[in-house]
Amino acid sequence: MYDVIVVGGGPGGSVAAKRCAQGGLKTLLLERKKLPRDKVCSGMVMGPWAQDIIQQEFGPIPREVLVDPHYLSGHMIHVPGVPPQVIACKTPLAWRKNLDFWMIQTAQQDGVEIWDGAKAMQVNQKAGACTVTMIQGKTTQELESKFVIGADGSASAVRKSLFPLLKVQYSVPMRECYDGALDLEKDYFHWFFPKYRPRPRFGLNHKGDCFLIEGSGIKELRNEIIQILAEYGFNPKSKAIWKDGCLIPRLHEALITGAFSPAQGNILLIGDAAGLLFPITFEGIGTALKSGILAADSVARSLKEGRAAAGIYLRELKPILKTIRRLHAWNKKLEQEATKGGAELSKALKAAYRETLKVA
Ligand SMILES: Cc1cc2nc3c(=O)[nH]c(=O)nc-3n(C[C@H](O)[C@H](O)[C@H](O)COP(=O)(O)OP(=O)(O)OC[C@H]3O[C@@H](n4cnc5c(N)ncnc54)[C@H](O)[C@@H]3O)c2cc1C
Repeated sequence: MYDVIVVGGGPGGSVAAKRCAQGGLKTLLLERKKLPRDKVCSGMVMGPWAQDIIQQEFGPIPREVLVDPHYLSGHMIHVPGVPPQVIACKTPLAWRKNLDFWMIQTAQQDGVEIWDGAKAMQVNQKAGACTVTMIQGKTTQELESKFVIGADGSASAVRKSLFPLLKVQYSVPMRECYDGALDLEKDYFHWFFPKYRPRPRFGLNHKGDCFLIEGSGIKELRNEIIQILAEYGFNPKSKAIWKDGCLIPRLHEALITGAFSPAQGNILLIGDAAGLLFPITFEGIGTALKSGILAADSVARSLKEGRAAAGIYLRELKPILKTIRRLHAWNKKLEQEATKGGAELSKALKAAYRETLKVA
């Protein structure tokens, strides 16, 4: 019998498990993939939540975890025919494989038991105990714990167990990685809006000796990407050295309206499993970390106060939901500004991205 089982070894899972173990709780973390595992992500540690929590909980990010140029100077917004808008904002840059492995190893040093290659299939709760059915290799086991923290990302099995009727729509971002460099500032993340609308968009950034084109719109924008990037030296005949993709759950409306509350009894969802990515940038490392801390602290309070963790956690989550509501409202404003022309859209995008990136 564990005190806490954390499902998922991303940033949210690592920080939640670490904090539970530090509080003296017997904590097991299950990670579906073999570690170290990669994650489709730009790898920017964006905004004060991500940066401050990593510093406080894990310490300074080791240099070997970062990838060249180590720190971005900020973001650039490109709307055709309008000079690029620059948002200065120092941002650590990493491959998620390295960042997440460092965090999970730090959690292990603090007493978290970690099983990798261990996939949670189903989670239940009955009088005073949770059960997690998981499969590792060919072995299926049923584990027991007092609490479960679902940190298992966008297609969360814990969320599906708790809310089997919840209908989730997903966007499908893709990444393409190319050898070499383009004639664009390497220390900036570049956001392109070729259709004079907030969406579809694509992103471009350099990492080490390669560059990545990414976003949910890259299939739809293929011609625009070739045309725009040719200006910066992109050879349309070049082939990506690798490609991948993933899902992003679109749960903002359900969270804002309260149609979806990401916890029940002693099972709490955090990070992408709870749909807590920020609107606009769709950054989610900071919200995964922040909600991971809130979940771990709600477990500690639940044990002390003898009441279910969900009520405590959902209350603590309110400031995050308030922020999501505020940032979500930008989507409508951006669509309105887009109808006024490229310059207005570009200005509004800068304001929206600035507000998202500075969220504390
Ligand atoms: C293209 C793209 C770019 C992005 N860029 C950024 C960025 O630059 N900065 C930023 O802040 N955010 C970015 N994000 C968002 C960010 O990647 C996520 O919000 C963040 O990883 C969420 O962390 P998490 O801990 O909730 O989940 P994850 O990091 O997704 O971790 C979940 C873990 O759970 C494991 N798992 C899944 N199912 C199971 C199961 N059944 N049993 C056991 N384990 C399981 C997975 O293998 C995974 O390791 C980006 C997302 C995309 C798609």
